[in-house]
Amino acid sequence: MTPLYEPQAFIDGRWIDAADGRRFAINDPADGSHVADVADCGADDADAAIAAASAALPGWRARTAADRAQLLHRWHALIIDNIDALAELLTREMGKPLAEAAGEIRYGASFIQWFAEEARRSYGETIPSPWPSARIVTTRQPVGVVAAITPWNFPVAMVTRKAAPALAAGCTMVLKPAEDTPLSSLALAELAHRAGIPAGVFNVVPTARAALVGDRLLDSADVRKISFTGSTETGRKLLARAAATVKRASMELGGNAPFIVFDDADLEAAVEGAIASKYRNAGQTCVCANRFLVQHGIHDRFVARLIERTRELKVGPGTAPDTAIGPLINQRAIEKVEALLGASVDAGAQIALGGARHVRGELFFEPTVVTDVTAAMPLWSDEIFGPVASILRFDTEAEAVALANATPFGLAAYFYTADLGRAWRVGEALEFGMVGINEGMLSTEVAPFGGLKQSGYGREGSSHGLNEYLDIKYMLMGGLAPKGDVA
Ligand code: NAP
Repeated sequence: MTPLYEPQAFIDGRWIDAADGRRFAINDPADGSHVADVADCGADDADAAIAAASAALPGWRARTAADRAQLLHRWHALIIDNIDALAELLTREMGKPLAEAAGEIRYGASFIQWFAEEARRSYGETIPSPWPSARIVTTRQPVGVVAAITPWNFPVAMVTRKAAPALAAGCTMVLKPAEDTPLSSLALAELAHRAGIPAGVFNVVPTARAALVGDRLLDSADVRKISFTGSTETGRKLLARAAATVKRASMELGGNAPFIVFDDADLEAAVEGAIASKYRNAGQTCVCANRFLVQHGIHDRFVARLIERTRELKVGPGTAPDTAIGPLINQRAIEKVEALLGASVDAGAQIALGGARHVRGELFFEPTVVTDVTAAMPLWSDEIFGPVASILRFDTEAEAVALANATPFGLAAYFYTADLGRAWRVGEALEFGMVGINEGMLSTEVAPFGGLKQSGYGREGSSHGLNEYLDIKYMLMGGLAPKGDVA
C-alpha cells in the first residue's frame, strides 16, 4: 500500500522538497519520539504553490458544481475508508486519544460531504428592476485563490472546514498547516489527489517559518482571500497585512467560553456537559468551557460531582484504549497552564483536584478543578487551553450574564437551566456567536460555526459557509425595450 503522505510539500499535484532543502522534525507529544522530518517550505515554495493554484483556477472554476461535487464525494469516501490510518497519524502528531481522533476525522469529513451538496445549491437571484427595459440578476462566483492557515488542535477538521467550501465553490487553495501538525494535512492532500481533484487545486506548504510563508501568501495580489483559524493575536497581524491587497478574510480566533449552571439546572446533565466541554482534547479546544459560573444554590453539589467525574478521567498516551486525556501539544502550552494556575492560586483560588504535571510524562497535566476563582484572576481572563476547570460562584442571573459578557472574546457560551423563559433571555443576552443551552458540545457541519467581537468573523459549515468563498456579481441586462417589430 502506498503511504498516506510523503514528508514533503504537495504543490501542483506533486511531492516536492523545499527549494532550499530545509526540513523540520515532528515528534510525538506523548513520548517525544520522532515521527517524521518534513520539508520546511520557504518563500520560493509559497510562490510556487500560489502559481500552481492560480494556474489551476480557470479550469476548476469552469467545471460544473455537480462535477466538483462528485470529486468531493470521492474525497470524503477515501477519508472514511482510511479513517484508522488517519486517526493513528493524527494521534501521533498531536496526542489526542485515538477515539477522539477518529471522531475528528468523521467530523472533518462531514464538511466535505456537506459542501459537495451545498455547491449545487449556490443560487443567484432576480431582483425587480426599476427600469422597464432592463432586468437585474445576481450570480455567485468563486473568489479565486484562497490562502488557508490552520492551527494544530484539530489537524484534519480545521483544514476541511476551509478546503471543502473553497473547493466546492470553485476556488483553489494554498494551505499552510501548523508547524506541529503538518502530517494530517499532507495525508488529506494525498487522498484529494487519489480522488481525482486536479493538480494545483489543493496545495500544502508545511513550514517551521510561519511568518515567512504567511507574509508571502498575504502579500500576493493573486491570493484573493485569507481564511485563518488560530489565536486572536496572530489573526490581528494577518488582517493588518491582508489590508494592503484588500483581501477577503474569514477569522476563526480565540475564545473564552463561559459555562453557566443555574440553580434550576439538571445537575447530572450539567456535569456531563461540563466534562465533555472542558476536557475534550485535553482542554485544547477554542470552544472549550474556559470559565464555570455556578449559582450559589447548586454550587457545592456541582463542584462535588464534577470532582468525582473528573477523577475518573484516565490520563495517558492517545494510543492507549482507555485514555480520556492525552498530553498537551508542547512545552509552551504546559508552561502557560502552570503560569495561569500559579498566578490565580497566588490570588486566592483553591485547587480542589489535580493542579500539577502528571506522572505520565512532561507534557501530561492532571485533570484539575479550581474553586473560588474571581473575575480578576488570569484563569478567568485568559484562554487556558488545558484540562483545568475554573469555577466562580454567582448569585443572580443578571450578574452571570454580565460576568460572561465581560470579555473581548465572543466565540461559544453554554448554560444549563430548566426555565424556558430564562433559556431565551440568557440565550439572547449572551454576546457569543454560538450558545449551547443544556448541551456542552455544539459543533456540527450543518450549523454556522464562528465568533463575535475579537473571536473573529465569518462562518464555517452550514448554508452560510459557502458564501465565504463566493463573490456576489450583479448583472444588469438592459436594452430590452421593443424595437418596433413587436406585434
Ligand atoms: P496560532 O499561534 O495563532 O497559530 C495558528 C496558525 O497561525 C499556525 O499555523 C501558525 O503557524 C500560524 N502563524 C503564527 N504566526 C504566524 C504569522 N506571523 N504569519 C502566518 N502564520 C502564522 O494559534 P495556535 O496556538 O496554533 O492555536 C490555538 C488558538 O487557535 C487558540 O487561540 C484557539 O482558540 C484558536 N482556535 C480557534 C478556532 C476557531 O474556530 N475559532 C478553532 C481552533 C483553534 P505555526 O504553527 O508554525 O506557529
